[in-house]
Order: sequence, then structure tokens, then C-alpha cells
Amino acid sequence: MTQNEAPTTPACYSCGVQAEPGRRPMIFTAMSLEGQHPALTHRNPPTVELGECSECRSRHELASLLVTGKPNGRDGTVTTDRLGAALDALAILGKPMPKQGESIGPLLRHLTTPGSLARWAARYAPTWSRGAKADERNAEAWAHLSEEQRRALRDGYSRVLAERVAASAPPVALTPPPADEGKGSPVEGGCLFCGVPAVAMEAQRVVARGGVEQARADAWTPTSADATVLGGHSSGRLRGHLCPECADAKEALGSVGASAIERAYTRHMRATGRGDDLPSLGPGEHLSGLSAWAVTARAGNLEAWQHASLRHRA
Ligand SMILES: [Zn+2]
Ligand SMILES: [Zn+2]
Repeated sequence: MTQNEAPTTPACYSCGVQAEPGRRPMIFTAMSLEGQHPALTHRNPPTVELGECSECRSRHELASLLVTGKPNGRDGTVTTDRLGAALDALAILGKPMPKQGESIGPLLRHLTTPGSLARWAARYAPTWSRGAKADERNAEAWAHLSEEQRRALRDGYSRVLAERVAASAPPVALTPPPADEGKGSPVEGGCLFCGVPAVAMEAQRVVARGGVEQARADAWTPTSADATVLGGHSSGRLRGHLCPECADAKEALGSVGASAIERAYTRHMRATGRGDDLPSLGPGEHLSGLSAWAVTARAGNLEAWQHASLRHRA
């Protein structure tokens, strides 16, 4: 569906039909040629001049309006261009454009990439496709798209819909993943430190991360440590996971140990409004009797640190 006679006006960089005449063209430069070593292109990179048709222009102006809240004009930011590519994807699929105030996050996450790969300009830059000529254009908008590109667009759109549905769904309780393979005894069913059996994540974020399994893996940090380091009386390596709060405490202290456990516990108590229940400690003093859940009898904690009972020592 391409015409090979030299056009007087360039092709639209999005849909590939003849662009609006009389506008300054945009120049796209290839970084490499398909099937050729990048070093060979380096000295004399091919370029193509592309424009914008009026339909794509108004769609891209809508992207700017949605990002900036201001009508007329292009702000030229990366977000506007990324949203413009996502709106191109919606146009190809024949789906409605978002309204002002609607969340654009799902569109950016799932349609920007297939949308920008679907653009006419993607034939030339960053890689000049084999056989692409600088003076070609589409007889019909998007006529250049392959079935593979269309499938990527449909997949992206179904992820947008899944995220929108999830936006109104309740949070998802993510239990820790099974303990990694390795030395020592696996500890499952809760955070090694605080024993919390699951962490809540907004359903929308779960979908954005690619589903429950991926979200679990993202939320929980695999950790292993000797039982004595966790406050236990007998040694032996334990492996399991830390919840995000306890993983932060470990990260802050640089290792698993009494200090990290104490930090995780005190921060949790303060965050849940029980900071006053903590014994007041002087410099060099530590909480006593605080063990990680992993080295207790591991009764099922319903909430973080339910197993903890404290004294304090100098
Ligand atoms: Zn166009
Ligand atoms: Zn924890």
C-alpha cells in the first residue's frame, strides 16, 4: 500500500499517509541499518524527512492537553510524546480516546511501546528497515502494520483494561513465595523477622507488575541467616523472605542481625501508633528479648510482631 513516486510533502511520522503540507518536516536519523553492523552506518547515517497529518496532529495535541491540562499547543515533553504514541495505539485499535482527568498511567505502561513501534517513523529510526525508502508513504493510515505489530497492540490494550478493572478491586494479600532452593531449613508462612503472613498491594499495582506471582516476587525479599543471628538459641541456617518493611531495615543496617530486627520492630511500633509502648533506651542500649519470628515456635502471626514480648536491657 505504498506509493513510490516522490511525494511533494513527506509522510506522517505516525500513520504514514501524506502529511499536512507547508509545515517544517522533522528529520529522523537512523542509528543502524537492518542486517548491517552499526559501525558501517556510523559515518554516513541515512536520514528521512517526515511530517504529521492533521488527524495525527490533533491526536498528539490531545496528548499534550491530557498531560499539561492546557489546550492548544505542544509542550514537547517526553511524557506527551509517550502518551501520543499510546493514543496512536488506541487510534489503530479503534478505541476511544481518554477524557481529561482519566488516569493515563495504564496507557503509558502498556501502549506507549507498541504504539511507538507501530509508527511509520519506526521503519527508519533507530534502525532503517530493510527495503524502506525515504520517499514512501501509506495510501491508507497504518497500512504498513504487520500482524505481529497489531497483536502487540491488542495485548497492550487488554492489559490496560485489566488494570482499569483492578482499579476498583480490593487490595490483594500477597503471601511470601516459596523459600529459594539452598542450604538450611526453609521458613514459610511469614516474614522471617516480623512474621506477617501477607502484605497487601493495591490490585492495580499487582496488575501493573504483571500479575500475582510477579508482585509476590517483587514484594518479598529472599533472605537467609543463621538462627542465632535471628535471636535463636540453636544454630542452623534458615532461609525465607522479608516483608518490605523488614527488608528496608535490613537494607539500612547492611545485614541481618539484632540491630536490623530492632530497627524493623521499633519502626513498626511507631508507624502503628505504639511508639510509647517501647522502652526508652539510652545510647548503646538495646531491646532485649526480641527475636525474629523465624526462630520462635512460629505460631501463625495475624499481624506483624505479634510474637514479640519485650524487656529491655542495658
Ligand atoms: Zn498521521
Ligand atoms: Zn516483616
